Amino acid sequence: MIKEKVVSKTKIIRVVTVALVILVIVSGGVGKLNYGGICSLGTWDILITCPLGFLERSLAARELLPQWPSAVLILFSVLLLGRVFCAWVCPSVLLRRVFGNKGELTKQNTKVKESIWASYSPYAVLGGVLIASFIFRFPVFCFFCPIGLFFGAFYAVMRLFSLDSPSLELVLFPTMLGLELWVLKSWCRSICPLGALLSIVGNLNPFFMPEVKKNKCLTAKGINCQACKRVCPEGIDLGNLDTGLSPNSCTKCLECSVRCPAKAIKFPLWS
Ligand code: SF4
Ligand code: SF4
Repeated sequence: MIKEKVVSKTKIIRVVTVALVILVIVSGGVGKLNYGGICSLGTWDILITCPLGFLERSLAARELLPQWPSAVLILFSVLLLGRVFCAWVCPSVLLRRVFGNKGELTKQNTKVKESIWASYSPYAVLGGVLIASFIFRFPVFCFFCPIGLFFGAFYAVMRLFSLDSPSLELVLFPTMLGLELWVLKSWCRSICPLGALLSIVGNLNPFFMPEVKKNKCLTAKGINCQACKRVCPEGIDLGNLDTGLSPNSCTKCLECSVRCPAKAIKFPLWS
């Protein structure tokens, strides 16, 4: 009972954080405060830009665009914090929480071969979209990025109410978003090239990694536990890292630590 309470508290904080980020961005758009969207957020001369969008646009233009300090700053923050963005900022978290199938994650995590394939496939997608952006001279992934689709759908609804002008985006964006997040199901883990880019840099992150106390872990004692693996959105099996899935792709959602029955998983600064 106590464990369930802690679980819901962590999830609630995460969902509220994502909702606040969405609110800040949306209020900027609605109030015409002109501080951008999640792809490129900022005001005056200070700009935080999506590092993948920046790479794609630079490849498309075949030159290093002037926003490079902003992209470098973001990648430096990933170096310090890893893939925190994926669990605590990206709106996909909130959408899956509200509309997702609760048993789906556990089902995916029990398919070991698929989990290992899923851990490599986003890198192939990342390579593909960068090459395609260079060849076709436009940022290919930006056209189907779920973050862009989410805000695009929202603004299409806003236009409908404020200008009374229905547009194709009103149907197209939610349909594409639904396909990505619910039909493809493991989008974040097996497809998302932004997650792959953050993982590459996050691999170098020496801080804030999950640590398993072997003397406490039930699996290390010969008991088939796997509680951490069942809840991990990345399919990481902290009780048995020999499965080949590296903890470097950890998004710091903290679910494993909360669910571990032996309290064997620790995160610096959190537990
Ligand atoms: S290892 Fe733990 S904190 Fe990291 S993504 Fe998996 S469940 Fe979340
Ligand atoms: S949930 Fe805890 S005890 Fe169970 S395998 Fe993971 S680290 Fe070990």
